[in-house]
Amino acid sequence: MADWTVDVAVIGAGVIGSATAYFNAKAGASVALIDSGDLAEGTSSKSDGNILVCDKLPGFDCVFAKASQDMFQQLSQELEYPIEWRQKGSLFLMETDEEMEIAKKFCDDMVACGIPMRMMDHKEIMDDEPLLADDLPGGLETACDGSLYPIGLCYGLAFQARKLGAQLLLHRAVTSIDRQDGGFVVHTTNGDIAAKNVVNCAGVWAPVIGKMVGLDIPIQARQGQILVSEQTFRVGRRKVHEFGYLMAKFQTDGYTRPVSEAVSRNGVAFVFEPTDSNNFLIGSSRRFAGEDISSDIEVMQAIAERAIRFFPILRDIKVIRAYSGVRPFTPDHMPIVSDTPVPGFYIAAGHEGDGIGLSPITGKMIADMIAGNELLMDISPLSYSRFGLQS
Ligand SMILES: Cc1cc2nc3c(=O)[nH]c(=O)nc-3n(C[C@H](O)[C@H](O)[C@H](O)COP(=O)(O)OP(=O)(O)OC[C@H]3O[C@@H](n4cnc5c(N)ncnc54)[C@H](O)[C@@H]3O)c2cc1C
Repeated sequence: MADWTVDVAVIGAGVIGSATAYFNAKAGASVALIDSGDLAEGTSSKSDGNILVCDKLPGFDCVFAKASQDMFQQLSQELEYPIEWRQKGSLFLMETDEEMEIAKKFCDDMVACGIPMRMMDHKEIMDDEPLLADDLPGGLETACDGSLYPIGLCYGLAFQARKLGAQLLLHRAVTSIDRQDGGFVVHTTNGDIAAKNVVNCAGVWAPVIGKMVGLDIPIQARQGQILVSEQTFRVGRRKVHEFGYLMAKFQTDGYTRPVSEAVSRNGVAFVFEPTDSNNFLIGSSRRFAGEDISSDIEVMQAIAERAIRFFPILRDIKVIRAYSGVRPFTPDHMPIVSDTPVPGFYIAAGHEGDGIGLSPITGKMIADMIAGNELLMDISPLSYSRFGLQS
């Protein structure tokens, strides 16, 4: 006899699981949101809070991200927990004329997809952010980009789901899943949950949960590290990052950034994010180091080196701490938001460096799939079947 019986059991209370619980509860389903730890125990509390379309690829990637971004204004009003949503746009910085050329083509392709992007020359970026290094040829502005407090988003979604009747079953690790009577029994370290549907939202741990029902899930941990500055004067007014970030994210062939070996080896690209309390986050790195989330001094130095390159004033500002998280990486950089060959078992995982931004649309899509509603758009590029894996 199960301790709880629900329509939807959501495994993992990070931002993706919390959004999935919220949108399912909003659709009228009975929901259990389960985590081995607390809310935001995993990657969702070790990230930045950027809600970006500028770092997506032209085509489905940016259209999907924009649809999610467009949901945040309403979400910030629906959720009773403060999520600090602000939409000040973002600025990519180009370091060389070659990058200006690549950025121009990228900008044209993104504008063709309906993204409000524009090229800026040297004078415009200096007017925009006067403390930038004086030798940068230009930038690329994306007016619709925003940011928020990611842990607040996670709490806001989970608490609102609870208000709609969802059970928050925290500090219970899922240990096995049985298929039974056209549904599932999810066994945890503290009670069993009978559910018609199960959604695997376990981030980098999704492959472990997948194995419990015989599914191989190709997600790997890709570490990222962030530095946090002391509270200081306003160095930059909005999200600023180097265009080379795109190349570090997608491991672009055919272009090599003029950077040191340590920057290149650790996939470091400059990212600057001011917060409401007037300190700021500086990132970030991308490397495969298992599930290690310790801070590494070489990575910290490489991030600082890159930050000073773009904002020389940062040389005089103190770092008060550093932290790391592991991004759930898939081989084609796209998340899995999908049903599976196991009827009633869904996957919402593998959002790599975009899970905060993609959380609302992911939760909504999974809720619509479970309810049998027509989806907002064709999301076949996110299907589990694209990997050709057998159950
Ligand atoms: C340095 C860094 C910066 C980032 N910056 C951004 C950004 O600016 N914008 C953005 O959109 N994204 C960003 N990301 C990416 C984003 O953080 C992730 O995509 C997102 O947090 C993934 O959320 P998730 O819910 O899938 O996974 P998680 O938050 O990891 O949640 C998975 C949950 O599953 C639970 N779990 C695991 N195993 C079990 C089990 N057996 N039983 C029960 N529960 C279990 C875990 O405890 C965990 O809470 C960043 C990531 C990093 C590392």
